[in-house]
Amino acid sequence: MDWKSFKSPEYNYRFNRKTGFFARWGRNFGENPERSPFGPEIADIEISTICEGVAGKLCPYCYKSNTEHGRNMSLSTFKTIIEKIDVNNQLTQAAFGLGATGEENPAIWDMCTWLRERNIVPNGTIANASEKTMDRIADNFGACAVSNHFLSSDKGNGMCYDNVKRLTDRGMKQVNIHYVISRETYENAFTVLRDIKEDPRLKCMHAIVFLSLKPKGRAMNNKFEQLSVDQFSKLIRTALSMNINIGFDSCSFPKFSKAIEDLSDREKLLMIAEGCESFGRFSVYINVEGRCFPCSFCEGEPGWEEGIDVLSSDFIGDIWNGTKFEEGRMRLYTKGGECPVFMLDSQGNI
Ligand code: SF4
Repeated sequence: MDWKSFKSPEYNYRFNRKTGFFARWGRNFGENPERSPFGPEIADIEISTICEGVAGKLCPYCYKSNTEHGRNMSLSTFKTIIEKIDVNNQLTQAAFGLGATGEENPAIWDMCTWLRERNIVPNGTIANASEKTMDRIADNFGACAVSNHFLSSDKGNGMCYDNVKRLTDRGMKQVNIHYVISRETYENAFTVLRDIKEDPRLKCMHAIVFLSLKPKGRAMNNKFEQLSVDQFSKLIRTALSMNINIGFDSCSFPKFSKAIEDLSDREKLLMIAEGCESFGRFSVYINVEGRCFPCSFCEGEPGWEEGIDVLSSDFIGDIWNGTKFEEGRMRLYTKGGECPVFMLDSQGNI
């Protein structure tokens, strides 16, 4: 049984657990529901804040400022959280918030087994993992992203490409590269695009996902700078002209929409892109303490200093369909999909 389906008069989906294919519709196939009132489709769960960096070096732009002195979520807390947010059996995927090696929290594999028993697919992002962890990722995850931290590793892009190959060699079909775009990483992004076309290690990868630098944590302390609209546009257009599968974080949707303004296939491209899914629309973030935020970037921002405790709440009634998420969602709608928490600068960056 590869398919998971959800049916209701106004909100429906079909999800293929093997391929990751997902289609959502409303009262009919032509209608696109604004949100799922039943709970999130995807839960981003931070199961560890421990990260020793890549090859012993902490990433200079980590928005979480994670170090080796972090903490792990226990298996029992994880189970309670999932049970609370999946009361309607609507959750399709759990995306683990992990450290660079994927093995910082030893309970991760028990979490995977338990999720699979509930028909939920575990996913995650790593940078450089051991052989044993790679085996376990291939056995357990639906999709895995490999972060390109060429600034943190002497091996440059090669470390990322090797790790992509180690996963695709194990038969994984949904292996992406996660690439943080900033002025400091901009030129190298074009090298990676060329390599996707030419480097045999990347032959079986799925897509490159561009993540806009967030003005938080070490990125802010180290004065990393975000891209201008023109730079973003040039990068996106280059990737599209090379027929490379791309993705981006949902916060970049307004910028993406601008970047493709005059392209003839704009409508088609917009259909595969999605704006912010937080605030009770389709996804949610829970941190290692079991506190809920609209997304991981909102943690600690004004109005979201503490988040909402999931363990002591009725998740669907108090949080997902509660007033705090609803207020943010209304701001999101009235601002045409722009972030309700961060002010956009003149270049459309949060
Ligand atoms: S709330 Fe803002 S920062 Fe969070 S995903 Fe939406 S657009 Fe991005």
